[in-house]
Amino acid sequence: MERTLIIFKPDTLQRRLAGRILQRFEDKGLTVSGLKLMQIPRELAEEHYAPHKGKPFYPGLIDYITSGPVVVVALQGHRCIEIARTLMGKTFGYEAVPGTIRGDFGASRSFNLVHGSDSPESAATEIALYFTDGELVDYSPAGSEWVFPSDDT
Ligand code: UDP
Ligand code: MG
Repeated sequence: MERTLIIFKPDTLQRRLAGRILQRFEDKGLTVSGLKLMQIPRELAEEHYAPHKGKPFYPGLIDYITSGPVVVVALQGHRCIEIARTLMGKTFGYEAVPGTIRGDFGASRSFNLVHGSDSPESAATEIALYFTDGELVDYSPAGSEWVFPSDDT
């Protein structure tokens, strides 16, 4: 089963939106297979966002993501990488359409509430940065067959 890494960024925690945002992923049928509250150390943030190093927004991004507590979530489900990105909406809150997390709660370029892996490769790399194997639980909640039919592609 596919997995993706989601981070509720510091603005989500400061604005007390963690419960409501997690609810959206659960409502869609995705399964929480790992979850923790932490403050991201600078070195870890730099490793995670290494692909953006050198871009104008990079220093501000590192300051932002390390500025307060975050919740990191490993989600599991068929096509969960794509599904999570769709639920999140476009990067900038002012462009994201209503109905998406960023479209409903965000108005900023940088403070956009959530991170989500953008490919199977980045999901694998990012999950390994934030979780050990022992912190991830592989299970299939009751009723999963009504969300992901076995013949779905
Ligand atoms: N970001 C920013 N200014 C920009 C572009 C991105 O502050 O012009 C921040 C924003 O928080 C974004 C993160 O950098 O979520 C990573 O950017 P990316 O293009 O990967 O967007 P995402 O995958 O999060 O939609
Ligand atoms: Mg990205």
